[in-house]
Amino acid sequence: MFRKVNRLLFVVFSILIVGNAWGQRTCGTDSVHALMMGLPGYDRAYTDRLDAANAAASDRLECDVPLLIPVAVHFQSTGIPIDCAIEMAVSQVQTLNEDFAATNGDLAEWVESQPTIWPSIDNGESCISFCLATLDHPDGFGLDEGDYAVTLDQTTGDSDASWSGYLNFFVRTLGGGTLGYSPLGGNGSGDGVTCDPQYFGSVSCGGNTISGAFDMGRTITHEVGHYLFLEHPWGGGGCAGDDFVADTPATDGPQFGCPSGQNIVNCTAPILWPSYMDYCDDACLFMFSEGQVARMETYVTDNLQNLLNSSTTACEEALCIGFDVAVNVVGESCNGNDGSVVASSEGGLAPYEYVLNGALQVGNGSFSNLPSNTYTLEVLDGNSCVFSQTITLVQDEPDLELVSVVNEHCSDGAGQIAVQVNESSTFDFSINAGDSWQDTGSFVGLSGGTYTIDVQNVFGCQGSVEVEVLNTSELDLVVESKENVRCTWFDNGSIDVRAVGGDEPYVYVYNGAETSSSGDFTLLPVGDHLIRVEDAVGCVYEEVFALVNDFSNLGNDCPCSIYVPNAFTPDGDLQNEVWEVKASCPVSGFHVQVYDRWGVLVFESMDAAFFWHGGVNGYYLDAELFLYRITYQWG
Ligand SMILES: [Zn+2]
Repeated sequence: MFRKVNRLLFVVFSILIVGNAWGQRTCGTDSVHALMMGLPGYDRAYTDRLDAANAAASDRLECDVPLLIPVAVHFQSTGIPIDCAIEMAVSQVQTLNEDFAATNGDLAEWVESQPTIWPSIDNGESCISFCLATLDHPDGFGLDEGDYAVTLDQTTGDSDASWSGYLNFFVRTLGGGTLGYSPLGGNGSGDGVTCDPQYFGSVSCGGNTISGAFDMGRTITHEVGHYLFLEHPWGGGGCAGDDFVADTPATDGPQFGCPSGQNIVNCTAPILWPSYMDYCDDACLFMFSEGQVARMETYVTDNLQNLLNSSTTACEEALCIGFDVAVNVVGESCNGNDGSVVASSEGGLAPYEYVLNGALQVGNGSFSNLPSNTYTLEVLDGNSCVFSQTITLVQDEPDLELVSVVNEHCSDGAGQIAVQVNESSTFDFSINAGDSWQDTGSFVGLSGGTYTIDVQNVFGCQGSVEVEVLNTSELDLVVESKENVRCTWFDNGSIDVRAVGGDEPYVYVYNGAETSSSGDFTLLPVGDHLIRVEDAVGCVYEEVFALVNDFSNLGNDCPCSIYVPNAFTPDGDLQNEVWEVKASCPVSGFHVQVYDRWGVLVFESMDAAFFWHGGVNGYYLDAELFLYRITYQWG
């Protein structure tokens, strides 16, 4: 056994060594940052930005001003063809937008684990979004209006001044186990994030295969975090290292692999391994904290205004910000084909085109004379921004009024219902769920019961009302006498009732079975008793009578007895410790006397609720045979 454990440890260690070289995330940002700090003036500029970011308010909660950043992607000597490059770039920007907006599907894992592992940390939903630029491209790259800003082998290195105003992704083979890197706090002057093609986007194509553990595009999410001035959670390293984000717990270094569901503490609090800024596999990075989001938004607002400005000309999305359509829907009435949809555009650029289920109107979005239906409204503005909404236009229900109800009497089948519809169009009426229809709302010859009256007209206007017809009569039961049960062990209750208000002769039924012509029922137990009476014309009345125990007036028909145990064991085992008697009814004049075998009185009581411990004069008697005499009265 010990040998096996030893071998297992060795195997795990071997995997760790291999993993260190090839299977773990390595980000080059720290070394890039160290290099840049050596450049003239960079140290001071960085420190200024750091001070400003740390001092800035970090409570931006609402996206009242969207922060849209244009993205350009430059493949460098990868051999990947343009179609695949575009596919990779599109998938990457989509992942980036989902991760920043916290609309990523695997956020569910955070929602599930957060309350138990990180109860005091909230994830952030960023106002920062990204567009793969399509408009107003720089000259000299062969890109037409509408093309994605994706270039092949037209840039070198980690910056290109032609692409100032963009967040650039430079995709090229890095080697050495580095997945990507970024300046710590980019400036939008042509710089950007550099990434190996194996970790860029989430699509394998064109001879390039996305790497297994880093196949979801989160390397770029991590590096864009650096570009927007987030550090690794361990800062410079060790528990004292600081990432300048208040809500990320201290950690002494990166986490690797996929610690799904785990509560890991390496400094003082559970570390935030799911943060995109840690080193876990893509599948185990799925959130930014609120503090991280606030820091990035502050950085964009304060330092990357040039990116926000160029988004208004480079991103189609920017042109659509503020474009909205107010929709007013009026349903179809019972008169038919008179519903309407009125759409009014706000913001955006005229002229507006309104299309409702294929019907086009230019300039004015007013559609009338509509039947009830499901509609799709699409509005296109002068910037080709599209507003789309599904509209369910319903028909009003008719004003259906219950006019009168006549009840059936003693099952004579003469019940009646009358309803009317207060609408200008003609309605048909049905009482049998549409099996047959009539042109009036009057129904006669009805038995007692609940009815649904349906109405409809030729325009499909429908309504219904539920009506109850009763089967009534004056039949009633008068109680002649009622006696409760006066014994415990003997049922001597009785009920004597007499029918009134109907046609004689009457038949009485007790509890659905026993039939009597007199209404006098005796020897009844405690409980509820159903007595039903039916008269000569079939009218029925029934009532429940309850009987209880009542010992206040004992009669001679109630036998009474007492129970006397013939042995008891006062030995302290809590079983049969005392001797006592029980009566089946209240007794009076009680007297008990106990004698030993020599006729000496050892116990006596005048209380029926007595109990005897087997003692006399302060000591317990030995096990012995005793005689008793009990006298009592009852009734
Ligand atoms: Zn990093």
